[in-house]
Amino acid sequence: MLFKSKLPDVGTTIFTVISRRAAEEGAVNVGQGFPDYPIDPRLAEFVQRAILDGHNQYAPMQGVAALREGIAKKLQASYGHAFDPDTEITITCGGTEAIFDAIQAVVGAGDEAIVFDPAYDSYDPAIRLAGGRCVHIPLKPPAFCYDWDEVKRAISERTRLIIINSPHNPSCTIASAEDLQALADLIRGKPITVLSDEVYEHIVYDGRKHVSALAHPELRERSFTVFSFGKTLHATGWRTGYCIAPAGMTAELRKVHQFNTFSIAAPLQHAIAHYVQKHPESWQGLTAFFTAKRALLTGLLERTAFKPITPAGTYFQLVDYGALSQASDVDFVDRLIREAKVATIPLSPFYAAAPRMTLLRLCLAKSDATLRDAAARLAAFADSTAKKRQT
Ligand code: GLN
Repeated sequence: MLFKSKLPDVGTTIFTVISRRAAEEGAVNVGQGFPDYPIDPRLAEFVQRAILDGHNQYAPMQGVAALREGIAKKLQASYGHAFDPDTEITITCGGTEAIFDAIQAVVGAGDEAIVFDPAYDSYDPAIRLAGGRCVHIPLKPPAFCYDWDEVKRAISERTRLIIINSPHNPSCTIASAEDLQALADLIRGKPITVLSDEVYEHIVYDGRKHVSALAHPELRERSFTVFSFGKTLHATGWRTGYCIAPAGMTAELRKVHQFNTFSIAAPLQHAIAHYVQKHPESWQGLTAFFTAKRALLTGLLERTAFKPITPAGTYFQLVDYGALSQASDVDFVDRLIREAKVATIPLSPFYAAAPRMTLLRLCLAKSDATLRDAAARLAAFADSTAKKRQT
C-alpha cells in the first residue's frame, strides 16, 4: 500500500454486507432500508417527461429553484416557519451527502463531535475524515433514551457539533420536545452546532408528532437539518435529499457541497418539484401506510418466539430474539441468513462499545408479500429451534 489508510478500522457498510449475504444465500431481504414496491407512477412519468423536456445538463449547484421553493412550502406547512429557498435550502445527494457536507463544514482538526449510539454508520467516519474526534454516548436498550447529564459531562471546550437523529435509525425511537429543549439549554452560549438527521420525519406512529429542530426557535438558528425524498417518495435510489440551515451556515455547507457533488441529477429534481407542487398531500399518508405494515408484521411475529418491539417512528421494526438464542447479534443475523433465509440488520455495529442485547432491525418498507414471507420463514426457524431444544 502506497499510503496509510485514513479509516483503517472501517469495512464495508453493514447494509451492503447484509444485502450481499442475502443475495448469496437466496434470503428474503428485510435488512437494508429500501422499498421493494414501485414508486407512484405519476412520479415516474414526471421524470420521463423531465428528460424528454431537456433537463439533462447540470442543475444549479444549490438545487433547482422550483424544488427549493416547493420544499419551503412543505416546511412552512409542516413546521410553521418560512425558510428562504435561496439562502437556506440546499439539494444534496441523499441525506448522506448533507450529513457529510455539514460535518466537513463545521468540524476541523482537533475538534470534537458528539454522536449517540446506536449511531447511523456514516457519522463517525465523516467526523474522523474531517480531522475531528467522535465522542460516542450510548442510548441504552430497551428504551434508548438520552441521558442529558452524560451529554453535559461530555461537552468540552473542543465540542463543535452534536448530531441527533429523530425518528431514530436503528432504534426506532423518537426524540421528545423535552429532549430538544434539554439540548438547546446545554449548548446555549457555546460555539456548538447541531446536525439534526430527520430523514424519517413523516413516519411517526400512534398519534405522536415529529419534533423537528426547525420548529425550535433556538435550535433552528444553529442547526443543519437533513431530510430525504428517498424516504418520503419511496425512491431511495434517486439519492435526493436536502439540508436546511441559516444563511451563514448554508453558505459554508455549499462550499463543501460544490466540490463534493456540485449538483444533483437535474431531471430528478424537476420531477420531484413538479410532483411536490401537484401532490403536496403525497407524504401525508406515509404514517398510515407504514402503520398497516407494522400491524401486519407484528401480528405475524407475535405468534413466534421473536418478540416484536413496537417502533415509535421510522420504517424499521426491532425484534428481540433473546428467547431463541444468546448468540451475538452479528452471529445470529448470519445464522438467520443461512438457516431461516431471512436477512436482517444487527444493532451492535452501530455502537462504539455495544451493550449486550439480542435485537435485530427489520425493514417495514416491503410489499405485504415480502413481509409475510419473511415472517413465515422466521416462524419456521423459531419452531425448529424450539423442537431441536426439546430433543
Ligand atoms: N439508510 C439505509 C438503512 O438504514 C441504508 C442506506 C445505505 O445502505 N447506505 O438501511
